[in-house]
Amino acid sequence: MTAWESNVRKVVPYVPGEQPKEKNIIKLNTNENPYPPAPGVFTKKMDMDNLRLYPDPAATALVDAIAQYHGVDKEQVFVGVGSDDVLAMAFMTFFNSDKPILFPDITYSFYDVWADMLKIPYERVAVDDKFRLKASDYFGGNGGVIFPNPNAPTGIAEPLSFVSDILEHNRDVVVIVDEAYVDFGGETALPLLDKYDNLLVVRTFSKSRSMAGLRIGYAIGNKTLIKYMNDVKYSYNSYTMNMPSIILGAESIADEAYFRETVDKVVETREWFKSEIEKIGFTCPPSSANFLFITHKTIPAREIFEKARANKIIVRYFDKPRIDNYLRVTIGTREDMEIFLKFLQTL
Ligand code: PMP
Repeated sequence: MTAWESNVRKVVPYVPGEQPKEKNIIKLNTNENPYPPAPGVFTKKMDMDNLRLYPDPAATALVDAIAQYHGVDKEQVFVGVGSDDVLAMAFMTFFNSDKPILFPDITYSFYDVWADMLKIPYERVAVDDKFRLKASDYFGGNGGVIFPNPNAPTGIAEPLSFVSDILEHNRDVVVIVDEAYVDFGGETALPLLDKYDNLLVVRTFSKSRSMAGLRIGYAIGNKTLIKYMNDVKYSYNSYTMNMPSIILGAESIADEAYFRETVDKVVETREWFKSEIEKIGFTCPPSSANFLFITHKTIPAREIFEKARANKIIVRYFDKPRIDNYLRVTIGTREDMEIFLKFLQTL
């Protein structure tokens, strides 16, 4: 190791799912939406001359659209470059205790990466053998709590009473609920905002709004929480949101009918696909997300993953304790899922 290397911040990075370059791949590995963004996003006129200028640092048009959509004040909305950026900012802003933050052992695998990078102590709380979270495991004695609801990669949603139970027993720390997948069947924690000033709800345009490529995420919380987040943001990078993201994000929000239609199609395909694979020896927990977490009674998950890859179908496999015999399968179009089903039937 060279002398300067001892001063380097060393991190073990998060590994995102593969984004293949080859054509004719059925891509069911990163929970993208198979349908295009709202039609208005394609036709929206933007003054490209404005790219000369810095974007609005407060992303006002987007913040206002989100605030109006959720019926909250604009001071309650924070936007970022995908919810990954929003979550990283939230970790930086709120998790500064000597006590460990808590999150489930089976969950979004970015949480421990941010905690390691930011030197935040943490504990992983074991989910039960059905992958369910137990509220009382998160009561007190911590520096903050974060969990996705629905959880990833299991797809399991916990009820609102679970979230309020955790908030009730953690009044002195910030509780972050990552609602990346909530539109596909979860119960949002937004109604709890009036009661709990320490709740931060994080959302994304990447899944239910089919806009992963534009990178838009947001958080909703009490005005004071959001002010603290903005203080950190403006101490780090004032211009996180670019002009097209601000304009096209607001455009997407305007089309509720298209949003509902595409979300409903994904949910319908998910339930159909689940019932079909259960006929051929697979099981999976009930999913409230745009993916299923599947396992087969005899065929190892890794083997299915590799065979599928060879057949140009990509799903997600996590070589991690407790879940290394599962595959996380994003719900694609009905046609994609029919092809994948046919492949599974040949195993
Ligand atoms: N939270 C969870 C639980 C996720 O699965 C993802 C997707 N990888 C994200 C947040 C981040 O999504 P994005 O940055 O695209 O908003």
